[in-house]
Amino acid sequence: MKLFIFRVFLLLLWPCTIVLAQGPSGKIAFVHANVIDGHQEDPIEDAMVVVSGGMIERIEAGSANPPEDSLVIDVQGRYLLPGLIDSHAHLGSLADARRALESGITTVRSASVNSFKDTVLREMVRQGALAGPDILASSIFIQPDLGEAILSDTRLIELHEGVHSPAELRRLVQIILDHGVDWIKTRANERAGILEQNPRRLVYTREQLKIVVEEAAKKGIPVMCHAHSEEGVRAAVEAGVRSIEHGTFVSEQTLALMKKKGTFMVPTYSEMFDLTQPSGEYNHPVLQIRGLHMVPRVARNIQRAHRMGVRVVAGGDTGYESSEVARIGMELTEFVRLGFSPLEALQAATTLSAEVLGLENKTGAIRVGLEADLIVVGENPLENMWALHDVLLVMSNGQIAVNNLRP
Ligand SMILES: [Zn+2]
Repeated sequence: MKLFIFRVFLLLLWPCTIVLAQGPSGKIAFVHANVIDGHQEDPIEDAMVVVSGGMIERIEAGSANPPEDSLVIDVQGRYLLPGLIDSHAHLGSLADARRALESGITTVRSASVNSFKDTVLREMVRQGALAGPDILASSIFIQPDLGEAILSDTRLIELHEGVHSPAELRRLVQIILDHGVDWIKTRANERAGILEQNPRRLVYTREQLKIVVEEAAKKGIPVMCHAHSEEGVRAAVEAGVRSIEHGTFVSEQTLALMKKKGTFMVPTYSEMFDLTQPSGEYNHPVLQIRGLHMVPRVARNIQRAHRMGVRVVAGGDTGYESSEVARIGMELTEFVRLGFSPLEALQAATTLSAEVLGLENKTGAIRVGLEADLIVVGENPLENMWALHDVLLVMSNGQIAVNNLRP
């Protein structure tokens, strides 16, 4: 049922996409907006937000007069929020990037694709050739068997027998860094969503992961690590990765270590939930049983991590393909159900995720001087997080990508 409702929302959203021109001076003034800025619980009521040159120029409470030559958008008392950040997605096509943006995501951390496509998508967005979210690319996985990813660079042929030794690991990191990625993605365990794999089986040791972290650090690049088992999470945290992706079976001791070292956790709960569904991305009875086993564990560990002060951020772990349903709104709705305050949940996809991605001076909040990454929803998400599933307007870097506000 949940999935059905979600698809209806997507259908409602697509046909109405409009791109608006800016005013003569390039300024846009949002008026009569209830602003949730990402920092405070209470909205700034009946506010005006002026955007100029892609940046937030002015925020004023009360019905202020918009600059004369601006394009005025009357938000009619709806809620203006920071654009959402998805810290774990797999964008591999032009359509996926557009769909992510249209669902309210203005920044994405790519958690690997099978090629270097995400670096090209990132450049297309930067050059204005594609309406998509800002992308932090990680491209191909550091993993023992490159699989199809070997086709993405002829230099990878030398690694066709596998990536295990220190020299092989270093070489793979160097080739990936050559493509100008923002993050390196590796794994400690096999995957949950593949029938033949066992998410508890270790694929790299702490020493191997440490080599990856050290090689990436030479260029100042952080490492994100897919890990499910306690042993895998522990190895990755001790190796010095910046984020744990999933963390399904992590122990309290290792969560305490994450808290101490500042390692953050991207649990991707909604994708794990998708495993249990008879439709969606994973449609197999064995994977459904696996999901039923994993979901309560990841839920418990999100609660523990939150209680212990580990920084938990939202990642949908989706490719934003038309058949995929996991979304950030769902992740935040679950975070609230698991004990986060609504503001904490929203921050897991705005201010906190910006901090974790090193973007806090660029995006993630409604603040003068930040990029104009904004969305409008019909209800206050701090009262009803589900409102995030029906995004009425999306602006990224000052450009309006979607506007379904009725005049
Ligand atoms: Zn993933």
